[in-house]
Amino acid sequence: MHNFNFELITGPMSCGKTEELLRRLKRAAIAGKKIKVFSPSLDTRILGNVIKSRNGTCQDAIKVNNSYEILSHIKDTDQIIAIDELQFFDKNIVLVIKKLIKNNKKVIGTGLDLDFKEEPFGSMPELLVYADKVDKLTAICMKCGSEYGVRTQRLIDGEPADKSSPLIMIGGDETYEARCLNCYELPNKNSVQRKIPKVSDTTESFKRILLS
Ligand SMILES: [Zn+2]
Repeated sequence: MHNFNFELITGPMSCGKTEELLRRLKRAAIAGKKIKVFSPSLDTRILGNVIKSRNGTCQDAIKVNNSYEILSHIKDTDQIIAIDELQFFDKNIVLVIKKLIKNNKKVIGTGLDLDFKEEPFGSMPELLVYADKVDKLTAICMKCGSEYGVRTQRLIDGEPADKSSPLIMIGGDETYEARCLNCYELPNKNSVQRKIPKVSDTTESFKRILLS
């Protein structure tokens, strides 16, 4: 086999990651492949069981609460497993993806490479090195219009968010936009780092299954 087994699409907010994923899935569907799509239930942009790109196209997706839940939905006949918003998954996502590849599934994933503090997001660094095809997309900077939007700017009430603000704020009055390196702002950037919340409900026995 001379196929890529794990393709990863990354970049900042609004760079078209999901749009690119949906484009690849559309091609796979034309080729008659059996596709299954997953998305973390933490992602509040999604209403109902779909993933949606900013240009309006969408695809049915199964929402999961943690990474190992993905495996419980996989059937022998599934060929392509798409996982959106990988940065939101717990650290076991790396084992889950390795398991899928070992079982001859092709995995196509998307995820933010960096959080709003310019720090690696979740398990993305590890996933980036395991992926055998990586596409790092850029967005348009929402401040100056540069084509090199490579950072995700967090805004709270329209102002750049402080580094010490919590990483995941569900339902807060906040927005995100892509910015280039010149326009990206992080007030109080020397403050103490906060740890990424972890979902650590994987049992040891399950880990053994994953590693077998
Ligand atoms: Zn800019």
